[in-house]
Amino acid sequence: MSSNLDNGEAVALGDLTCREFVDLVTDYLEDALDKQTRARFEDHLVDCPDCPVYLRQMEAIVGAAGLLREEDLSPEVRDVLLSRFRTWRNGG
Ligand SMILES: [Zn+2]
Repeated sequence: MSSNLDNGEAVALGDLTCREFVDLVTDYLEDALDKQTRARFEDHLVDCPDCPVYLRQMEAIVGAAGLLREEDLSPEVRDVLLSRFRTWRNGG
């Protein structure tokens, strides 16, 4: 397995999708993202009208619960959110 990621910074730095954003929110709130991912995450916050709202809700949950793990999200809630994001992406 050879890696051609010498220019990894340029290669990997596409726009974050809303789905990726959702996946990263808990890590972000736990300050567990690496610098690069965090930058992409924050870029998406600026570009996307909806994800900041989602982030705020998650912050509220974390603030209330003290600690949130992805497992704490019920699969249903997660599913609904991801469906919404899919709809937004396909809306155009
Ligand atoms: Zn988004």
